[in-house]
Amino acid sequence: MLNEKVAELLNTQVNKEFYSAYLYLAFSNYFSEEGLNGFSNWYLIQAQEERDHAMLFVQYMQNNDAKITFEAIGKPEFSAEKHIDVLNAGLKHERYVTGLINNIYGTAYEVKDFRTMQFLDWFVKEQGEEETNANDLIKKMELFGSDPKSLYLLDQEMAARTYAAPSLVL
Ligand code: MG
Repeated sequence: MLNEKVAELLNTQVNKEFYSAYLYLAFSNYFSEEGLNGFSNWYLIQAQEERDHAMLFVQYMQNNDAKITFEAIGKPEFSAEKHIDVLNAGLKHERYVTGLINNIYGTAYEVKDFRTMQFLDWFVKEQGEEETNANDLIKKMELFGSDPKSLYLLDQEMAARTYAAPSLVL
C-alpha cells in the first residue's frame, strides 16, 4: 500500500500532467493560428508527451493498488501579445511542474517510500530536460524571432520534431 499522502499527491499529479497536455495543445493552436506550423507541431508533440506522463502516473498507481480519482481538467490560461510570451509561459509552467515533482519526492522520502522515489527519478531527470528545452527555445526566439527569414528557418527546425514514446517503462 502506498502512503496516503504520497497517493494523494500522485493522484493530483495525474491531473496536472493532463492539464500540461491541454496547455501545450492550446499553445499549438495559438501557433497554428499565427501561421507558424513548426511551432504548432512542436507543442503538439509536447502535449503528447504530457499525456504520456499522466498515463505513467495512472499506471504506477494501478500497479500499486492506489485508488485514482479524476477531477476536471482546468481551462488552459495564458496571454500572448508576442510569440515569446507563449515560450515564457511554457518555461514558467515547467518550473511549476518541477516543484510539484520535487514535493512528491520529498514526501516519499519522508515516509521512506523508496519505490515511489525510484519511479520519480525518471521525472526528476525529465523536468531538467523540459526546463532546458524551454530555455533554449526562448534564447532562439530572442536571437532570431524578430527577423522574418530567421523565424521561418526556426519554424522549420521546430517542424522536424517527431514523437517518441517515453523511455520509462513500468
Ligand atoms: Mg510532464
